[in-house]
Amino acid sequence: MIKFLDLNKINSKYEDEFSSRFKAFLKSGYYIKGSEVNQFEQSFATYCGTKHCIGVANGLDALTLIFKGYIELGKLNVGDEVMVPANTYIATMLSILNSGLKPVFIEPDNETFNISPSEIQKHIKPSVKAILVVHLYGQLANMSEINAIAKTNNLLVIEDAAQAHGAVSISEEKKAGNLSDASGFSFYPTKNLGALGDAGAVTTNDKELAACIKLLHNYGSSKKYVNEKIGINSRLDELQASFLNIKLRDLDQDNEKRREIAKQYLKRINNPKITLPFYDGSHNHVFHVFVIRVEGRSHFTSYLEQNEIGYLIHYPIAPHLQKALLPYKSLYLPITEAIHDTVVSIPLSPVMTTVEIETIINALNLY
Ligand SMILES: *Cc1c(COP(=O)(O)O)cnc(C)c1O
Repeated sequence: MIKFLDLNKINSKYEDEFSSRFKAFLKSGYYIKGSEVNQFEQSFATYCGTKHCIGVANGLDALTLIFKGYIELGKLNVGDEVMVPANTYIATMLSILNSGLKPVFIEPDNETFNISPSEIQKHIKPSVKAILVVHLYGQLANMSEINAIAKTNNLLVIEDAAQAHGAVSISEEKKAGNLSDASGFSFYPTKNLGALGDAGAVTTNDKELAACIKLLHNYGSSKKYVNEKIGINSRLDELQASFLNIKLRDLDQDNEKRREIAKQYLKRINNPKITLPFYDGSHNHVFHVFVIRVEGRSHFTSYLEQNEIGYLIHYPIAPHLQKALLPYKSLYLPITEAIHDTVVSIPLSPVMTTVEIETIINALNLY
């Protein structure tokens, strides 16, 4: 059986280092917001090229805190509309809804799966104040066009960078997390930079927003027992930060391995029944997942099961068709629905063996 993702294999090479870091952590007696969180915030800001990084509890909180921060600062108001790609993980929508804002579902580009700048253009109206971009499956959205539209129309741009740690924009030579006003990252265990539990971060160059989120994520407080705002508790866990400090070192190398495997798939999977993903060959993609499209998906996934090849579907139900988002059910989003109906993610990770890669390529060519 080829696992879709072998998290134990990804993390076991760090076992000794994790253990010694854990022992030091245990001994320190300091378990919340200690030196590991501080170090990670500095290292990750440096890695992304941003002035600020605030560690938080998870990716959803990172995005929600950005919106709540902008509301605190008066740059957004409750009830404002936010454009968002219609094909994404539900967390993206929830960050908007949980902040008292309204999502405007935008169709993606059918080739890249990312939000379409021309569709954004069509939905510009006075009630829309921001665009929440998702770098879906690890590939950067068209940020130069999106930022240009936002500038002309005075909109905020926020990145959901939960799948794109380390992706580099060739035109701007900047990384995911540094291509907009503010970005939310998740370090959920399966992400390209994954903790051993929940973790997340906000990156931004906006000093005021950073200061505001620093308060909001920690009970609205910067000084113990002094509360300036109605905040929440969404701190980055000290132990998770210590694991992330160790794993950040290998992120670029792991992303390179992911691209190498993707290049092999793209070159050698050759089957008219399978549509391969678009990739321009640059570092703007970190292949968080390798997503192909097939008609008659259940037939194809049974074939994968027979061949003992793991797979996942990112994502089986479009957000506007989820029961939780009932008011959006009747939106006309044919590109989004077709994507959700035909996508399949096949195994791709930095710890795969050559044999596994060959087995997958052969099986897909024989389908
Ligand atoms: C994983 C993910 C999130 C949410 O991250 P959590 O840490 O699970 O809260 C948000 N958006 C996208 C696109 C994701 O893939």
